[in-house]
Amino acid sequence: MLSKLIFSALLLLSVFTVYSQTDTGAKFNTKLIKVNNMIYMLQGKGGNIGLSFGPDGVFMIDDQYAEGFEQIQKDIKSISNKPVQFLVNTHFHGDHTGANAALAETGTIIFSQENVRTRLMEMITAEKTKIPQEILPVITFSEDLTFHFNGEKIYVFHVHNAHTDGDAMVYFTNSNVLHTGDVFFNGKYPYIDTENGGSLNGSLAGIEKALLVINEDTKIMPGHGNVGTYKDLQNAANMLSILYKRVTMNYINKKTEEEVAKMTDLTLEYDKQGYGSGFISTEAFLRMLYKEVEKERSDIDGNAAKNQKAREKLEQMQKENNDSKKEKKD
Ligand SMILES: [Zn+2]
Repeated sequence: MLSKLIFSALLLLSVFTVYSQTDTGAKFNTKLIKVNNMIYMLQGKGGNIGLSFGPDGVFMIDDQYAEGFEQIQKDIKSISNKPVQFLVNTHFHGDHTGANAALAETGTIIFSQENVRTRLMEMITAEKTKIPQEILPVITFSEDLTFHFNGEKIYVFHVHNAHTDGDAMVYFTNSNVLHTGDVFFNGKYPYIDTENGGSLNGSLAGIEKALLVINEDTKIMPGHGNVGTYKDLQNAANMLSILYKRVTMNYINKKTEEEVAKMTDLTLEYDKQGYGSGFISTEAFLRMLYKEVEKERSDIDGNAAKNQKAREKLEQMQKENNDSKKEKKD
């Protein structure tokens, strides 16, 4: 009898270990990573999910795909029987919002920056049959929002035109844990969705804002990749600004996008660290940088041309003025 009990206890223990540390599901291969006593990061197919477990219930950040919902729900239930009360979408992309409708059906209240809702609405209108109305966040904010949940302040703040035009980061102030959304891909070149309001300068500014909010002991859940540190986030900012400068130099020296896309020496030290082995290849990243530089430079060149015209007009007016003065004198 006793041995049976011990066996059951061991079995339970091993099941828990499986759930908390290693792969939990065959189909979606999810993985629950403990960040601290209350906060877990769930990796699977799609962006990283952030979870806070506590006396008030479950607070969730992003939800991957609808197909993965059952598995994700199982993973959550392995830690808490309490419902997912609130969900924050860090941006509108499908690998972060795909299970919104399924969660809404369980009573979860969905929050996001207002542009996320607008983008999702556009998707619903474009593909009427495929996307249910229930994916839409029901509460939106423009700049920031604070939750008082599970014994801590959870500060949600918008970063402008970074990965998209609706990015939000989520900072657990007591736990000292930050979820960056896709503004930060840990150790990989990031994808910047310039078609949907993202920009390189905004990404840099967003990371800089995050670095001001957090401190050197903060644990960081990136949009994709493993849990990172303050230093990792700082490295991402350095990488972006260094490569941006290098591509700008080449643009000024009249190199074409095709030429820059093949300049492997520009990114060598980062490629060696594996930055190009993620979702975005080195070439794709260089092309994105080139287009961003091109956009910015054409604005500058456009302004210079406008300034030149204005100067000529002014000179013409002064000349006319002088001429008429002369005439009066004569
Ligand atoms: Zn994304």
